Amino acid sequence: MKNSISLLCLLVLASGFTSALGNPYFPDTKEYKTLICDLHTHTVFSDGLVWPTVRIDEADREGLDAIAISDHIEYQPHKNDIPTNHNRPFAIAKEIAKEKNILLIKAAEITRDTPPGHYNALYLHDIDPLEIPEFLKVIETANEQNAFVFWNHHSWKGEDRGHWGEVQTILYDNQWLHGMEVANGGSYYPNAHAWCLEKNLTMLGNSDIHAPSIDYQYTADEHRTLTLVFAAERTVESIKQALLARRTAVWHNNRLIGRADHLKPLFDRCVTVSKPHHVNGSNVAFFEIANSTLIDLNLKRNGQTGPAAITLPARSTIIARIKLSQDRKPVPLSYTVSNLLVAPDKGLPIEFTVSVEK
Ligand SMILES: [Zn+2]
Ligand SMILES: [Zn+2]
Repeated sequence: MKNSISLLCLLVLASGFTSALGNPYFPDTKEYKTLICDLHTHTVFSDGLVWPTVRIDEADREGLDAIAISDHIEYQPHKNDIPTNHNRPFAIAKEIAKEKNILLIKAAEITRDTPPGHYNALYLHDIDPLEIPEFLKVIETANEQNAFVFWNHHSWKGEDRGHWGEVQTILYDNQWLHGMEVANGGSYYPNAHAWCLEKNLTMLGNSDIHAPSIDYQYTADEHRTLTLVFAAERTVESIKQALLARRTAVWHNNRLIGRADHLKPLFDRCVTVSKPHHVNGSNVAFFEIANSTLIDLNLKRNGQTGPAAITLPARSTIIARIKLSQDRKPVPLSYTVSNLLVAPDKGLPIEFTVSVEK
């Protein structure tokens, strides 16, 4: 059965997929809602260039489910024009978020030279008590408010200054550190990815946007870096539960980064393989593979059967041809999806079987 399947052609079915999705980009999994979140954004209240309500308008236009406005506590270059008021960005954006059905999470970015670096604290009640000089005390105070704390862009000053040091071990041992940005804007951090797996931390990917968003239309390559959160419900509290349970994936460029436990159920909803169409008397059958996501999925063959590589273009269906054996035995196919990353340099393994009626 070697190389018994060949790809025939592409059919673009761009409009067929979007209507069934909760958000415009990824379907819900069997168990969870797939929520599209940007948990690291800035406004004029720190070094951003937009008013807080604009972040909500942008999220609405781009089809996001949730955002956190996480202005720097300690860095406010506009403070001569915009007086320090850490709790105001959330207060200003709250009403319009409700109106536009965007989930808004109250947050702040704890900002220190690297090391120790920058940390986002989500789900804060009051940001003012975090304005204190002692770094560990700030993180402890955030945790006293039951915040979800993650380490941002760890190696933005180079891997050397962003190494996992004593201070991170203190945070980790106290259970004050819950996650890391595996991607921030255009950067992907394989070390952060490896540490999240090794230390059982939540993986996040965020835009860290400062300027107005110019992403009017998302494509496989052009979109904000975002976190997919697999939540029981579309609520702020349910997102927190999912973050604590590490149910996330990171959408960065044309790939998803996450744990196999979460990428596999998503893949199963995103990609469907049709029943083969078989013409009586012939020794070939045709079947369709549909990809409903906004990612061009790259499959590489593990075994001997099937083409060495298959690309499933975003929101498209391809038709594949299979040569049948005399006895019409089902054909098992084994591939690795190289841009669904379950570890640095390791794609998600998948298997499916093509069987025709005898
Ligand atoms: Zn930062
Ligand atoms: Zn930032």
